[in-house]
Amino acid sequence: MYRYETHTHTSEVSRCSHIDARALARYYHKAGFSGFFVTDHFFNGNTWIERTDDWADMVRRLGEGFRLARNEGEKLGLQVFFGWEYAYRGTDLLTYGLDESWLTEQPDLLSLHINDYCDRVRADGGFIAHAHPFREAGYIDMIRLLPRRVDAVETYNAARTDFENEQADHYAEQYGLLKIAGSDNHHGSMPRLGGLQTRTRPQTARELIGLVRNGQAELFSREGI
Ligand SMILES: [Zn+2]
Ligand SMILES: [Zn+2]
Repeated sequence: MYRYETHTHTSEVSRCSHIDARALARYYHKAGFSGFFVTDHFFNGNTWIERTDDWADMVRRLGEGFRLARNEGEKLGLQVFFGWEYAYRGTDLLTYGLDESWLTEQPDLLSLHINDYCDRVRADGGFIAHAHPFREAGYIDMIRLLPRRVDAVETYNAARTDFENEQADHYAEQYGLLKIAGSDNHHGSMPRLGGLQTRTRPQTARELIGLVRNGQAELFSREGI
């Protein structure tokens, strides 16, 4: 089986991350994964990137953690894929299958309503998974669900409670949404990890997403290291 982490943050880009991109790659290599997604917080999330008039430069900064992790991953034989985590008032959308050049061509992205964001991403071949949809925290005003606008639900998040994950799983079941698992890793070493496992090795992020769409990517969880 090939194992992939779907949800990580680098300290180069995400303010809340305590692990840099290279160390993140070394951690997943040591943990025996085949690869992982870097899903740093988008410009509307907890990011170090300041909003400026230079959209292309903002996009380049967003990809910095990913590129550092990918270069380290290449040395280790670890696949590293690009994604990001879009944020709207505590509603977080993991976005996969689109690259930096796509982002560069969407300088109006931050002005879109969250529903229109989802529609554009998906119309262009991207894939959206609602991260920890039942997370509760002081800064989250309400639980907000978009069942007709996402592809998948993160039904196992290693950093959330079992109760929150069970609610997410129920939600996905009721609406017939795809499921993914991930760790929301901001630290490297974690008590438990989650991810996707496949029988064939996807070569690209799009291929891995294709396996999720076809039901050929199983969720797994395990103890961390
Ligand atoms: Zn974070
Ligand atoms: Zn996250």
